[in-house]
Amino acid sequence: MLLLDGKIASAAVKAALQAETQLLVQSGKRAPHLAAILVGTNGASETYVASKIRNCEETGIRSTLVRLESDVQESVLLAAIDQLNNDPGVDGILVQLPLPKQISEQKVIEAINPTKDVDGFHPSSAGKLVQGLSTFIPATPYGIMLMLEYFNIETKGKHAVVIGRSNIVGRPMSILLSSNQQRGNCTVTICHSQTPNLKEICLQADILVAALGRPEFVKADMVKEGAVVIDVGITRVDDATAKKGFRIKGDVAFAEVAPKTSAITPVPGGVGLMTIAGLLKNTLQAYKQNA
Ligand code: NAD
Repeated sequence: MLLLDGKIASAAVKAALQAETQLLVQSGKRAPHLAAILVGTNGASETYVASKIRNCEETGIRSTLVRLESDVQESVLLAAIDQLNNDPGVDGILVQLPLPKQISEQKVIEAINPTKDVDGFHPSSAGKLVQGLSTFIPATPYGIMLMLEYFNIETKGKHAVVIGRSNIVGRPMSILLSSNQQRGNCTVTICHSQTPNLKEICLQADILVAALGRPEFVKADMVKEGAVVIDVGITRVDDATAKKGFRIKGDVAFAEVAPKTSAITPVPGGVGLMTIAGLLKNTLQAYKQNA
């Protein structure tokens, strides 16, 4: 069994990015610039944004964090996005999700200028992805594709099963794996909460992507011998014995599933790290297109 170690694969992606940004700055150009907006103080969101900013620093990408109170009016958030849209020194904009109830996530996603949409959530980016056009690919599926590439996982002709149909992970993942490109060309089945015979379908998967957000949902009896398993899930599960009072769990029961697989991602240390690599690559792409 091959451990698809996100630390190793993301380090390779980040080293290449860092070399590229260094060359840009050495040649007198400004560094790429990512602006992140964080609303409120949700613990997981704080951790994600801090990690994105740290990784920007490590790769020579400038970052700006805009913090807004959790009771902020939607109009104030939209105005902040507008300001960043109109700032020629900002290449990429991300708004950390989820957002408080008074704010429409869809409105916020659509307010971001598609040329700065480094999360790839804007309908224009999603539409381009469906049509196989060059665009910003949502960071998590992009990161998974980078990981498949790094570990040279063959996808052509394979049956990929994706559990989850969200706009952020499951749906774009299914599109990428089915597309006519390197690390694509799979026959894809997309499953969701209304899929009745999930176990049967999972057992047919050569590549199984679990993105449903249910800790340790995928058990050994759902996985075919020799399958490649990609665990996207990140759930904080209370655990009094852990230093922080919780542990991060994936959607796959790793200990029992791993021995059956040919390759599997760990959680933590797998897809999460690749997601950040995907975001950084999108930021550099935005810079190249806009600067
Ligand atoms: P979501 O809640 O938007 O979507 C979950 C999907 O799973 C839905 O489409 C739903 O139909 C499906 N689902 C739910 N229960 C199911 C069941 N019992 N059987 C089959 N399908 C079921 O979640 P999301 O935003 O797509 O995220 C999924 C998971 O991935 C979460 O744990 C999230 O934290 C994690 N995530 C991780 C990263 C990362 O960087 N590793 C990035 C984004 C999301």
